[in-house]
Amino acid sequence: MPLPADHPDRPKLVSRAAKVPLKAIVNLGACTGCEVCISVCPVDGCIDKFGDDPANFGVWVNYDICIGCRLCAKDCPWDTIRMVPSASVKGFMTSLDTQPNHEHEVFARPELVPAEVRSFVDKPVYQDPVAAPMFTQQNKEVPNIMGPK
Ligand code: SF4
Ligand code: SF4
Repeated sequence: MPLPADHPDRPKLVSRAAKVPLKAIVNLGACTGCEVCISVCPVDGCIDKFGDDPANFGVWVNYDICIGCRLCAKDCPWDTIRMVPSASVKGFMTSLDTQPNHEHEVFARPELVPAEVRSFVDKPVYQDPVAAPMFTQQNKEVPNIMGPK
């Protein structure tokens, strides 16, 4: 679950996260929902998934508390996370705001995530010059899934 707004550690985390040079973005078109990223992220509540329905594969990153440590990108078995300059996601609340495609069900059913992080609704497709080319390197054998590392 996302870190509650009144959690005692939140102000310290938000302050630290505001100064880091990198943030994690997730390609929902390739995420298998394996939750490895959730298990390795050192910040409690920084990465969350879409409820418990296995049909809704995918996770999202809270940018207000992501400290840019890269562990999720390093350990994701499906290579679906990229680190991008924090400046390129300035003003975005979560990695949902940075989706390079809008085909995931969350764009049809934004109620899959808490109301306070639905800023991705009606946002244009994210076009980061560093991340965009990497997200086109999909596994041709398995549409919408990248090859495992
Ligand atoms: S580790 Fe990668 S594939 Fe697994 S849930 Fe996280 S982003 Fe998705
Ligand atoms: S970069 Fe680090 S803090 Fe940010 S989501 Fe990934 S594991 Fe968590």
